[in-house]
Amino acid sequence: MSAEPTVEGLAQELSTYLDTNRINQVRRAYYYAEQAHEGQMRKSGDRYITHPLAVARILAELKLDHQSLMAAMLHDVIEDTGIPKDALAEQFGEDVAELVDGVSKLTQIEFRSRAEAQAENFQKMTLAMARDIRVILVKLADRLHNMRTLGPMPYEKRQRIATETLDIYAPIANRLGMHSLCTELEDLGFSSLYPMRAKYISKAVNKLRGSHREIIEEIRGKLQEKLEERGLPGRILGREKHLNSIYNKMKFKQKSFHEIMDVYAFRIITDTEDDCYRILGAVHSLYKPLPGRFKDYIAMPKANGYQSLHTTLFGMHVNIEIQIRTEEMEHIANNGIAAHWMYKNEPSNVTSVNQARVDRWVKGLMEMRERADDSLEFIEHVKVDLFPDEIYVFTPKGRIMELPSGATPVDFAYAIHTDIGNAAVACRINRNLASLSQPLQSGQTVEIITAPGARPNPAWLSFVVTGKARSSIRHVLKTQKRAESLELGRTLLKKSLKGFGTRLSEISDGQKQIVVNHNQVNSFDDLISDIGLGNRMAYLVARQLVTGAPGEEPPVVQAERPTERSPVTIRGTEGLLVKFASCCKPIPGDPVVGVMDSGNGMVIHSDTCSRLPEDDEGRARLTHLKWAKDINDEFSVELRVELERQRGVIAELANAVAMADGNIERISVEDQNAKFGIVSLVVHVNGRKHLARVMRRIRNIRAVTHINRVRH
Ligand code: MN
Repeated sequence: MSAEPTVEGLAQELSTYLDTNRINQVRRAYYYAEQAHEGQMRKSGDRYITHPLAVARILAELKLDHQSLMAAMLHDVIEDTGIPKDALAEQFGEDVAELVDGVSKLTQIEFRSRAEAQAENFQKMTLAMARDIRVILVKLADRLHNMRTLGPMPYEKRQRIATETLDIYAPIANRLGMHSLCTELEDLGFSSLYPMRAKYISKAVNKLRGSHREIIEEIRGKLQEKLEERGLPGRILGREKHLNSIYNKMKFKQKSFHEIMDVYAFRIITDTEDDCYRILGAVHSLYKPLPGRFKDYIAMPKANGYQSLHTTLFGMHVNIEIQIRTEEMEHIANNGIAAHWMYKNEPSNVTSVNQARVDRWVKGLMEMRERADDSLEFIEHVKVDLFPDEIYVFTPKGRIMELPSGATPVDFAYAIHTDIGNAAVACRINRNLASLSQPLQSGQTVEIITAPGARPNPAWLSFVVTGKARSSIRHVLKTQKRAESLELGRTLLKKSLKGFGTRLSEISDGQKQIVVNHNQVNSFDDLISDIGLGNRMAYLVARQLVTGAPGEEPPVVQAERPTERSPVTIRGTEGLLVKFASCCKPIPGDPVVGVMDSGNGMVIHSDTCSRLPEDDEGRARLTHLKWAKDINDEFSVELRVELERQRGVIAELANAVAMADGNIERISVEDQNAKFGIVSLVVHVNGRKHLARVMRRIRNIRAVTHINRVRH
């Protein structure tokens, strides 16, 4: 039995590229995690700490920075031992705590959702959630070690983890150019998911390898000879096909096992770019290259930064695929974005040329967008991944919705269905009630609460970010405004006609048409709608209809103020076109009048409001209103209370309002000195009687010296 790996073994490895101080920080994280996981065991029977240590080792092989290694040591601490993020920040700094927190969040997602069908979105979400790409690197290493030690897990769990690895994590590794990690994840995932198929293929591969050995060695020898003859440095590697890729080629490309395996593949690793081209010349002189198979990815790197020369030769009666690249190209081809950190951390180890090249990696991805080839899609993805401008949230059933960043629950509701958006009244984010305007974040579960008959709120337009939500809301409001303006306009017109002693049903179509033409509108409905919107006066339209001779002076008809006898009934729930004035805050029971506000419908004021016009002409334009009898809605009213300052008087005030079944919307102390204070209260009541009850309760408080209703 081999000895359990130790942190000292790791420290030794780290000494090749990290200084003592940093190695000690990694050690400290190890001991902290060891203590935190004390007593926990893995399914295999190993101490739990062996897992984070192994994860850190994987990252050490990639030569990642000390913070990533510390995060690897601590990556299960928040999730499994309940130590809070703050505690980690205090011990190891904000950066490390953020990394650990990021990894924990990704881990939680695995438990919560079962939307396998949306692997693509899952990959994106995973990346979007991790602001710091190192979170992904730690998570990938975590997953790799879990896959390596999947054996003792129960069957179901093994299947789930393997599927997830193939669907989510291997493609992410691939996207980040981490070829080695990707292929290992794929092969482990494939073997757990299809153990029999994996066994069959690997047996067949081994058998073939035996029978091919001779010819492979012969080709390798010839290649080696040629390099030596020309004095070119280079090591020659035979390339193995991976189980998963063999299986996929058989399954999806309908190729036979032998077709796939009948290719002899080598890689030559050399020192400089120049050597690459020289070696290319050398191998072309050894065997004839196949036309159309040569690719120069050194001069024209692939979108993910991959560089190499590819050529296929025909010799020894077989096809020989050759890749030629430098050590650095090899490193980047295998480790992709992880190579970025390695070089960045220890610039003394590499030439400045290397440094500059790797630094350009991410930037290059963006610049290469112009190049029109199949890598375009890749770049599009990576752009989204590394610079997330999208968020991914769950429906309660686990479906993933993709939204632009800044999207709110209202955007989410409209993204699901227009009807849901239109009927939304509230929402839950991660099961807690939340505001409809709160910007969502990746990974949240959002549930929209709807109510039959609910309508979009015009205020939503100020915070929605998606075009769909915006246009849907606008559309509904427009339709609604039209319907309401027709209704209000008709009510007002009927009332005015009554003042002229006639009725709308008695007006002939011909008369209507004359008035329509005179006012240069498209239809009689438009005319009525204009009245409802406050763009036309009902009285004038009524007069035109009655006299039938617009433009002429109308005959003097009936009472001067015909409206008084037939006030319009209001309920306060009319919708967009009937609003209550914020100055005088009328409540049911108050005498009220309506003022038509051009384009916006009617504003209801208390008839004593100081904002109302005082001249006769202005007064004549007011619409007389009366309240409906059975109003249950609440209306806000402002009270001003003068009181003697005493301990607990505010609480007593609040209590008095509550005792009278009033709701306090706002309470503030406006002005006070040592003895007296003035308190401003906004209370919800359902009418004058209710208000009287509230005021009586307040007046009964001993400290209260004066109370009055405020109307501006
Ligand atoms: Mn783990």
